[in-house]
Amino acid sequence: MAVVSVKNLCVVYDGFEAIQDLSFSLEDGDYLCVVGENGSGKSTLIKTLLGLVKQNSGEIIYDNLKSAQIGYMPQQTAIQRDFPASVMEVVLTGCLKLNGRLPFFKKSVKELAKKNLEKVGALALADKCYGELSGGQQQRVLLARALCSTEKLLILDEPVANLDPKATNELYDLILKLNKEQKITVIMVSHDIRCAVLQASKVLHLDKTPVFFGTTSDYINSPEGRKFLGHEHCLCGGES
Ligand code: ADP
Ligand code: MG
Repeated sequence: MAVVSVKNLCVVYDGFEAIQDLSFSLEDGDYLCVVGENGSGKSTLIKTLLGLVKQNSGEIIYDNLKSAQIGYMPQQTAIQRDFPASVMEVVLTGCLKLNGRLPFFKKSVKELAKKNLEKVGALALADKCYGELSGGQQQRVLLARALCSTEKLLILDEPVANLDPKATNELYDLILKLNKEQKITVIMVSHDIRCAVLQASKVLHLDKTPVFFGTTSDYINSPEGRKFLGHEHCLCGGES
């Protein structure tokens, strides 16, 4: 059974068609990399998958998964980078649904936050101020936050934007580890395509409409993949 099936999806913003007739489905444990030029509809797809943007036609079917059970790591903005809170507080904002309406955080919820900080190798940062962390550390914290909402599906929009090559590789390795070891299905948007694509099991190349959807090895050998990836070699140290 597919974790998520997208069928004939169309998304229009005020008369502007951002996604046209998109269909694909993912199996449990897949790692999908969504690639495409700027403005090709990648973030729109992510927001539609999360229910933040409404489609005009087509459907998205999740297997036994509510949108609250999806871990989401949004594209970061400068303001969010200076967020005045402790690391623990930032991670706990990913647990609001679990905590119900209580005015304090339950012990079990704090334990979950700690467990996920540990998973991303950032437990030692728990009491630090989020705004004082490096970009790579901040992304790890946001990943821990996203993990608090899911053990099944993680959606990441440009998680390595603005990171240096070392932090980029570390974050990719971490995402791959979560996918392989925790069996979390991953959907990741990246314009850093060479490295991202080589870690993923499947590729969706978007240009409003799907240019390619299939396995990574088929993509690398396809005319679309060759053209998009160019002849450059992957400079990342990550597993491929
Ligand atoms: P990508 O993430 O691939 O760069 P987006 O999904 O953000 O692309 O955007 C796809 C297209 O839709 C772009 O042309 C963008 O300008 C347009 N767009 C995105 N969000 C909105 C919006 N809220 N209202 C109107 N147009 C939008
Ligand atoms: Mg985008």
